[in-house]
Amino acid sequence: MRRQRPNKVTVGRLFHFRGVCAAATALEILIFPCALLHADPVTVFTGARLIDGTGQPPIENGTLVIDGDRIVAAGKIDPAPFAAKSGARLVQCGGETIMPSLISDHSHLGVVKGDNISAANFTPENIQAALEQYEGYGVTAVLSLGMNKDSLYTLRDQQRAGQFAGADIFTADRGLGAVSAAPPQAIGPDQVDRPATPEEARKMVREMAARHPDMIKCWVDDLFGKAPKMPPEIYGAIIDEAHKNGLRVAAHIFYLEDTKALLRDGLDVVAHSVRDKPVDQEFLDLMKARHAAYIATLDLDESQFSYAGHPQWMESAAFRAAASPALLGKWLSPEYAWRMGKNPMTPLNRKALAQGLQNIKSVHDAGILVGFGTDSGAMPTRLPGWAEQRELQLMVEAGLTPMDAIVCATRNAAQVLGDGKNRGTLEPGKRADFLLLAANPLDDIGNTTRLVAIYHGGKRIEPAFHFSP
Ligand SMILES: [Zn+2]
Repeated sequence: MRRQRPNKVTVGRLFHFRGVCAAATALEILIFPCALLHADPVTVFTGARLIDGTGQPPIENGTLVIDGDRIVAAGKIDPAPFAAKSGARLVQCGGETIMPSLISDHSHLGVVKGDNISAANFTPENIQAALEQYEGYGVTAVLSLGMNKDSLYTLRDQQRAGQFAGADIFTADRGLGAVSAAPPQAIGPDQVDRPATPEEARKMVREMAARHPDMIKCWVDDLFGKAPKMPPEIYGAIIDEAHKNGLRVAAHIFYLEDTKALLRDGLDVVAHSVRDKPVDQEFLDLMKARHAAYIATLDLDESQFSYAGHPQWMESAAFRAAASPALLGKWLSPEYAWRMGKNPMTPLNRKALAQGLQNIKSVHDAGILVGFGTDSGAMPTRLPGWAEQRELQLMVEAGLTPMDAIVCATRNAAQVLGDGKNRGTLEPGKRADFLLLAANPLDDIGNTTRLVAIYHGGKRIEPAFHFSP
């Protein structure tokens, strides 16, 4: 059911030349279905339910006006003056919903290809394919939170110059892990720095800062007791040096006490759920005092075991389009179910998910900034695009309202990304990054998979799958 995409390299070039080369535009019209072409100067979407990402109640029969890659007006406004402008296009939205597109604050690029993890997967082609998959699921910006080769900066530059399609790249550089420990992925030595001393950690952070990352990442975890943890003097040095260089730090964590210690040292972003025990008042107070953000990555914990149980959503077109036939065959096999049933990690992962679900509710209720991320792309089980769709559903299962979950995945996620002024809500001046949905996600959060179209920088993108009617 996957849509046909035109040649990826060609798309990048045509986008690059659009507006400056009439011949390219004419060629484009010959080659592409019209759905892919719209970057018209002014487009007026009217008759839509607007969920603007700020948490305000939805606006029924609202209007959204975009000019090129920007939003110029949104709300209960008269579309006529905008539609009257020369060259303006009017789109009648018969009751469809428009909401900001999703933003992942915790994903990884170039780590996984199909069912394997390898340093060899960090190629422009593999990264491009993942970015297009994210975009086709409604995720228009992705923070690759560590394990990146330095070549990602080149791709980020090329993308900003219009030469590379898909979700917008943000990067946390290589990240800083523990020696012979987390992160455990089989990646290259040029994809993660593993400082042995605080001095070495400071030097590595300074080298990263010189490459201009969007965040610094560190790993503080013993992987269920199987590996040594990064010592406090090293993460203390990382946080201090990052702050001296004007950069925020996100930490992979599992345990409550580690997270509190990191927060006391000035941590900015908690990049996973606290999963060993319920968060307590001291934790909530530290988060508030630091103005720290929390990313739950619930799909990470669920996907460690859930496929073996063949839940109903594995039948959906949205899930099927994200999983390769080989992976799907493996997950649906009786052998996989048998193996997962015997795996001593399965009960631990189930418990971790249950604790994560409880904790995101406590953190959100306390008024702490909750962003959005899944750890998609770090393991073959964490499917780009689908993981983010499923994360919204899990946040609602945790007790957040659909509106809360949407605000986390849009406005809050943009803020965590450090780009809140530029994206995340349907407000004048912001990027024209939004979803056109056939049904209201406030009635059922699963309706965010009912994608009619994705608009990314004002350009219409076809969904990666056709939802079932
Ligand atoms: Zn991660």
